[in-house]
Amino acid sequence: MLASGSGGNAVYISSGKTSILVDVGLSMPRLLKRLDIANIDPSTIDAVLVTHEHTDHVIGLESFMKRFPATLHVHTSTVDIFSYIQGERISVFDAGFDIGDIRVTHFPVPHDSKFCFGYTFTNGDAKVSIATDLGRVTEDILTHMAGSQLVVIECNHDLLRLTGNKKYPLVLKRRITGSFGHLSNPSCALAVYRLAQTGVSQVILAHLSEENNSPNLAYNFVKDFLGTKGIIEGQDIWIDVALQDEPSKRFELGAK
Ligand SMILES: [Zn+2]
Ligand SMILES: [Zn+2]
Repeated sequence: MLASGSGGNAVYISSGKTSILVDVGLSMPRLLKRLDIANIDPSTIDAVLVTHEHTDHVIGLESFMKRFPATLHVHTSTVDIFSYIQGERISVFDAGFDIGDIRVTHFPVPHDSKFCFGYTFTNGDAKVSIATDLGRVTEDILTHMAGSQLVVIECNHDLLRLTGNKKYPLVLKRRITGSFGHLSNPSCALAVYRLAQTGVSQVILAHLSEENNSPNLAYNFVKDFLGTKGIIEGQDIWIDVALQDEPSKRFELGAK
């Protein structure tokens, strides 16, 4: 996780042979700094995928595509949205497809953008899935993410903090808590519980609101909820929190 939150998002995934950037929501100087801290050479990134067109997910996309040789993979329904990206290194997908030795599938997630996708990435027995910026978790989303070793899932806000936040007008609160807004801590915890039952062992809580959540609040909420169901963090499942201002550690998946 290079960055996560409404101030900018980027996730790096690599099989060792193939590497993919999901979202380029940081300005080029910030992105290059994060990649440098994480010891990743941007010229070795093979492909870029985008979850949706909100600024915090695409602000650095055009610059990145101009400067580095990665191919941008866009869904057929979103070609027009990305027409501002010039060049031949755009590949259009409709169904599941391969980038090098990584199999990619997409699934729609409910959010108030023109489109919004979650993705799964598989290489051999290793499976990673990502779903951020979603108002609710559908059965279809859970089906796609089931059985992943690692999931990145939004854990956006504490409901009491959000509803009590005097800086937020009611219309914004309604947008965030709506079906096409952002995932609350309880909704995230419930999804993690369902995913834990499918064998998910590593969870990264993502896209935390800086105003209406905190890493401790999100972590403890999910951990405590799982605890009430007999799932113990650090024993049955591992939970980390992605931050806005610094890259996460590198998560390595061993083949089962
Ligand atoms: Zn976002
Ligand atoms: Zn968004």
